[in-house]
Amino acid sequence: GEHRPADINAIVEESLNLAYHGARAERPGFNITLKRDLDPSAGLVDIFPQEITRVLLNLISNGFYAATKRKQGEADGFEPTLSASTKTLGDKVAIRIRDNGTGIPKEVREKIFNPFFTTKPAGEGTGLGLSMSHDIVVKQHGGKIEVATEPGVFTEFIITLPRKLAAQ
Ligand code: ADP
Ligand code: MG
Repeated sequence: GEHRPADINAIVEESLNLAYHGARAERPGFNITLKRDLDPSAGLVDIFPQEITRVLLNLISNGFYAATKRKQGEADGFEPTLSASTKTLGDKVAIRIRDNGTGIPKEVREKIFNPFFTTKPAGEGTGLGLSMSHDIVVKQHGGKIEVATEPGVFTEFIITLPRKLAAQ
């Protein structure tokens, strides 16, 4: 695809809905609380919209997986939740995807961006999502992808994109 100025909040919202409906179609009974905190000033950002959508779909479905997995080991009353936010930061925009799932242990965290690294059972993960996401965000957009996590509590991926792509 081509890069163009795209409404980043609309892309986040569309990705949430696509991932949610996909998860429900795959796993009847799947349920999660979705939260959004979209900065109205995020506006148009110069991106490859299809590629950023792929990144978001993977981050969101990873979050769904982790929150659902944590729920299996928790008492009733645990509410699996995924939150998406956007925030304008000067000439950049930050997108955060946060889940209250299993979190990522330290020894695993070092490997999650490696191609083919997965902790999922065969057939449930290819281990390519985050390495692909890293390439799209860093190499294609000149942005950053970072992770914050606390095992047993939460995981948050933070993508920072320049509002204008650097000339290639
Ligand atoms: P896959 O989803 O196919 O396993 P990814 O590259 O998307 O591949 O993710 C690699 C690994 O990173 C996952 O298998 C999992 O161990 C870890 N991971 C990614 N996102 C999360 C998350 N939100 N919570 C917990 N672990 C995660
Ligand atoms: Mg994945």
